[in-house]
Amino acid sequence: MTATTWRALLKEKHQLSLRLFLLLNAVSAGFSMVSPSVNTQRFTLPVIILLVLSLSCLLWQWGSKKQLININAVSLIIGLLWAWHIYIKASAMPAIDLNFLIIALLAILFIGSISFINNIQAFFAACLPVTTMILWLDQGAHWPRVLYSVALPGFGITVQHIIQKRNDNFTRRLMDKLLEEKETLTDLSMLDPLTGLYNRRGFRNRLDTILGLDAGQHFVLLLDIDHFKAYNDNYGHSMGDQALTRVSAAIRDAVRSRDIVTRYGGEEFMVLLTDIDAERAIQTAERIRQRVYDLNIPHLFNDTDTHVTLSIGIAALEQQNIEEALRESDTALYQAKRQGRNSIFVSEALFSTRA
Ligand code: GH3
Ligand code: MG
Ligand code: MG
Repeated sequence: MTATTWRALLKEKHQLSLRLFLLLNAVSAGFSMVSPSVNTQRFTLPVIILLVLSLSCLLWQWGSKKQLININAVSLIIGLLWAWHIYIKASAMPAIDLNFLIIALLAILFIGSISFINNIQAFFAACLPVTTMILWLDQGAHWPRVLYSVALPGFGITVQHIIQKRNDNFTRRLMDKLLEEKETLTDLSMLDPLTGLYNRRGFRNRLDTILGLDAGQHFVLLLDIDHFKAYNDNYGHSMGDQALTRVSAAIRDAVRSRDIVTRYGGEEFMVLLTDIDAERAIQTAERIRQRVYDLNIPHLFNDTDTHVTLSIGIAALEQQNIEEALRESDTALYQAKRQGRNSIFVSEALFSTRA
């Protein structure tokens, strides 16, 4: 889940509260027609508009889930309609009934606060027109009581709003952290812990990007340390690990940053040389072999030499067929071993000559 979907989720939550607001207003408008608290002007124009508007907004939102309605605008319009309705009813009374005003105000505040418990703007948009109208009709005679009625839920909603904001921030931070850790884990799962090179999974992942670009010719190098079992057996596993780390760093240093170096197996590596010609690919293989030799890691049990050495098989990557290229470079590697190790061999399919 990304930050955008998170915001969309919050928006959706607010739209749900709008539905509740519309539903309660529709019911309230219907009820005030059927059973009004004061019998003057039962069917006012604003209350009819209110009923029709709330129901049609509800239906519209139900039908098309993606269509988001501007919550503040709708709650302000509904607030204004209620204010208009109260004005018409109050004007028809011989004397303005305070109880009617307070009941009307409380009804609006009640609907506003339970619908918009987390949306302070929408709450005030719905309640301010009615509050102002009632203060005006009452000529300020009971303003403390009217303001108190608004201030109480207003204060509650403000506190709720702050709590909710903190919760939302906390959840968002938690989500960002989880996403970050997921990315780190994905990256780690692509790397070999001993050498820091790509493992097979990391290689596959990079390969898709490289092949997608499809620039120039690519070559696959398969590299294998010579007589490494003997090294391990004689110098110990821990020294073996150190040698592996040094050899892998030497391979990495001998190629360009855009080439992909992978630990392909225990003491086997694979290098994908990208966008390069055959001659340079062979030169690079030779450079790798020499760099590893120049590390001068003593290996008295390496049959052909006294240092740790490497054999390399090279094949071209044709028509993005990595499996075929690997098979060919494996055969070439076998040939490199057979011809005495510490050497490179170019796949027959590429050249019939030995490098
Ligand atoms: P060749 O020249 O034919 O490649 O001979 P080799 O002895 O290198 O080949 P073999 O495949 O028989 O042995 C590979 C050895 O590599 C076996 C194992 O002891 C060693 N090895 C593989 N992975 C690791 C590792 O992670 N750490 C250490 N220390 N040794 C490893
Ligand atoms: Mg080996
Ligand atoms: Mg091997």
